[in-house]
Amino acid sequence: AKEKGRNTYEVYTPSFDLLSSELLDLENRLHRALELGEFMLTYQPKVNIKTGEIKGMEALLRWNHPELGLVSPAKFIPIAEETGLIMPIGEWVLKTACRQNQAWIESGLSPMPVAVNLSVRQFQQPNLVKKIAQVLEETGLEARYLTLEITETAAMLDVDFTRKLLRELEKMGVNIALDDFGTGYSSLSYLKQFPLHTLKIDRSFVKDLTVEPADIAIARAVIALGHGLHLNVVAEGVETVEQLDCLRMLDCEEIQGYFFSHPLSPQEATQLLQRMCLQ
Ligand code: C2E
Ligand code: CA
Ligand code: CA
Ligand code: CA
Repeated sequence: AKEKGRNTYEVYTPSFDLLSSELLDLENRLHRALELGEFMLTYQPKVNIKTGEIKGMEALLRWNHPELGLVSPAKFIPIAEETGLIMPIGEWVLKTACRQNQAWIESGLSPMPVAVNLSVRQFQQPNLVKKIAQVLEETGLEARYLTLEITETAAMLDVDFTRKLLRELEKMGVNIALDDFGTGYSSLSYLKQFPLHTLKIDRSFVKDLTVEPADIAIARAVIALGHGLHLNVVAEGVETVEQLDCLRMLDCEEIQGYFFSHPLSPQEATQLLQRMCLQ
């Protein structure tokens, strides 16, 4: 539970590996976490490089475990995937993020999309489109103010399925972002068949951008590819002004990362939006 002061809803990652008994315990606790209200969403802004405007918020899940503190989604999402718990958890995330965004819009802030991450299994669930339509209906959020982030790896598992599903979602009006781009094995020719709005350059390419010429070449190529396909390009994990300058030079339009803001609690996110996005 690493309380490092304001603006730091980072997660505590123990440096040791989980023993199998701990894993079982984690699984049992995960079962009850929803009922106990132990999940919360944090929100990290996506910012336009040229104007400094906030263009969207990504919802990032946190598990506030009474003894372990904030448990990283990287730790428990794989378990939730395996056990199927990801379905109710994912639905809670979707509903909570949509409700929050609708509240922001109704309070008079400039409307912008909220982004929700979908895991592989959520992406493959048979009634996904119906579920999303239901949540939008229930929360009153317009589809264009929802972005779904799917990883490149999930999208490439079954490209025919992905193409069909994304086309349905696009018809509904939601935005699709391809997450962690560059880490999977996309055959680039498939990209043009997917109705995408955004490519997110994975943090692993941003990390050494200023010291690693190969990463500059990759970032430049991804940005050019995105623009060629008329997509918005977002670089994730931007931590320094040097990385920012480099991305600006490469004509990337949006950044996300600690340089601008850590993931924020709903209250902190609301305050930030009120400072920057009052209409
Ligand atoms: P992601 O979608 O690639 O999210 C970006 C991760 O990078 C987040 O980690 C975020 O807190 C972190 N990050 C943001 N800016 C920086 C930076 O400048 N430097 C560094 N070092 N890290 C930065 P987080 O929140 O721990 O989430 C990890 C992953 O867990 C996410 O990766 C996403 O794949 C998954 N995840 C998070 N929330 C959800 C959710 O609600 N549902 C599902 N299915 N997956 C989720
Ligand atoms: Ca994401
Ligand atoms: Ca990502
Ligand atoms: Ca990533």
